[in-house]
Amino acid sequence: MSNRLVKCYGTCEQKHYQSEMQKISGKNYCPQCYLVRAKEQQDREDLTNLIKELYNIPYPTGYMLKQIKQFTEERGYKYQGIAATLRYVFEIKRAARPEQRFGLSIVPHYYDEAREYYANLTKKRNETVIEKPQIKVLKMQAPVYQNNYREKKLINMEELLK
Ligand SMILES: [Zn+2]
Repeated sequence: MSNRLVKCYGTCEQKHYQSEMQKISGKNYCPQCYLVRAKEQQDREDLTNLIKELYNIPYPTGYMLKQIKQFTEERGYKYQGIAATLRYVFEIKRAARPEQRFGLSIVPHYYDEAREYYANLTKKRNETVIEKPQIKVLKMQAPVYQNNYREKKLINMEELLK
């Protein structure tokens, strides 16, 4: 165990004990930054695999890699967001076909729309989860239906008297 302080390569920009650090590609990361960086690397790998699958190519082209770099660095896009947008355009909305020569140029045109789509989807899923217990409660209150039935009968009777 070393008690030497070393600088974290992550976003915290703090010094930590070397014994606490974990390495990615030879760089030191504190536990918190390590999780962030590891997730980012996983997301990048997932995006790479998705591109290979969608475009049917052995590896993203140099143009695509350049676009990914540009999207994340200049536009602040997340790897996960780019992947979600590609799925949205090609698999859900089917607004275009994956064509290698266009690279990932379609992503900025649909990034926000895809984000909204997935946000609504999550919202709907959450609402469904909340609705379930309410259905159970209704089933348990069987007498309520009886009352409604009686009420309906009364209304019908009144109509007959008119
Ligand atoms: Zn850190």
